[in-house]
Amino acid sequence: MLNDSRSHGLWEATAPEAPATSALERNLSADVVIVGGGYTGMSCALHLAEAGRKVVLLEAHEIGFGGAGRNVGLINAGLWVMPDDLPVRLGPVFGERLLKLLGDGPSLVMELIEKHNIECELQRNGTLHCAVGRAGLEEIRKREAQWQKRSAPVQVLDAKETAKRVGTGVYTGSLLDQRAGTLQPLAYARGLAKACIRAGVELYTSSPVIDTSERGGNKVVHTAGGSVEAEWVVVATDAYSTGPWNSVREEQVRLPYFNLATSPLSPENLQSILPGREGVWDTKAVLSSFRLDGSGRLVFGSVGALRGTGISIHKDWARRALARLYPQLGKVEFEHEWYGQIGMTPDALPRFHKFGRNTIGFAGYNGRGISPGTVFGRELALLILGEKKEEEMPLPVSGILRNSFLQYREAYYEAGSQIAHLVSERI
Ligand SMILES: Cc1cc2nc3c(=O)[nH]c(=O)nc-3n(C[C@H](O)[C@H](O)[C@H](O)COP(=O)(O)OP(=O)(O)OC[C@H]3O[C@@H](n4cnc5c(N)ncnc54)[C@H](O)[C@@H]3O)c2cc1C
Repeated sequence: MLNDSRSHGLWEATAPEAPATSALERNLSADVVIVGGGYTGMSCALHLAEAGRKVVLLEAHEIGFGGAGRNVGLINAGLWVMPDDLPVRLGPVFGERLLKLLGDGPSLVMELIEKHNIECELQRNGTLHCAVGRAGLEEIRKREAQWQKRSAPVQVLDAKETAKRVGTGVYTGSLLDQRAGTLQPLAYARGLAKACIRAGVELYTSSPVIDTSERGGNKVVHTAGGSVEAEWVVVATDAYSTGPWNSVREEQVRLPYFNLATSPLSPENLQSILPGREGVWDTKAVLSSFRLDGSGRLVFGSVGALRGTGISIHKDWARRALARLYPQLGKVEFEHEWYGQIGMTPDALPRFHKFGRNTIGFAGYNGRGISPGTVFGRELALLILGEKKEEEMPLPVSGILRNSFLQYREAYYEAGSQIAHLVSERI
């Protein structure tokens, strides 16, 4: 997208074509204008257009330019935060509502994929949260108990069963979440864009919103080439925010995360490595994630930015880590490499923002945006359609909490991940 093979890597190389779109070059009016062409914006647009609303969506670059085109593709149920912590932090009503909505999140993603025939390498075989050591095992057992209390289909697998499924004996166990799965993230984003266009959404790319104004009680958003006047504005710009809602970006610490993809594995290796095609991540503080893509490439990722000295440090670490995990692979070369920025909030919870009358949005997914973005987009649509009230949303409204020492924290994560990977010899 940026003529940069490290921005969207494998996903850009293998996703179906993006729909034909152009930049906004005139003045339009609509019921709702949506800013941001990721999962949140497009889920909102699709649900509104299907309910008969006139919707214009403006994307600064291309569909899936932000996290939606760069992520690992794990369709998770829930957040990083322990399930029991949510009712404590948000109160029982919001806490349990959020757990239910996000627990059901992967089903909404999978329903949309099916309904709109989105080709995105969907795998419904669950995810495995793999435990490192005794502490990791304790953590996943706690998660299992807290989800099972809420009747979720999750289950701790012992070390032997984990080794059989993952294809390595380094883990002490894993939490199988049968609600979850994997997909090709940019293909999902482009498929949503095509569904939006079929439903009547006017979608413009290369159209960053640079300013806003008011006209007769309506909002007007401006790009370099035109404007859109609407009753509602949805801000769905998250960690890649620019322009009038840059404040969203300022409340998040951006954590760099990279992925490396091997060439397609041999049929023999595919028999031992993730034969069930689950998506995997581990319990380490500087975590690793891995999964297979539709052609059997192993996509391996961790915290860090692939720029400057980070390129060789992280790639060398990944080769060492893979040699320990999967000695059967022999010498590993990577066909694709890319990275992106995950927007982290101080309490690891997303935010529901109201930027003024009829200007709303969600942000701060903390690396869990495929299901939550899709769900929250639908919830924003329901609010605009008058089918839900503000107090029935997944989260209470919160102001922008500016993160102090943002740049120092981000530099710390980037340097910290390099140090961790430089010295790390073990998984
Ligand atoms: C490397 C990485 C790995 C991740 N792994 C996972 C994972 O495995 N599972 C998971 O669930 N989540 C994962 N995430 C998180 C997930 O990708 C995000 O939470 C999700 O993409 C958020 O969706 P969104 O639509 O809100 O924002 P985005 O997808 O970031 O889209 C926002 C869009 O807004 C546009 N924009 C910004 N400002 C403007 C403006 N002024 N005018 C017009 N457009 C604008 C941007 O160009 C961008 O395209 C990962 C993220 C990264 C970066």
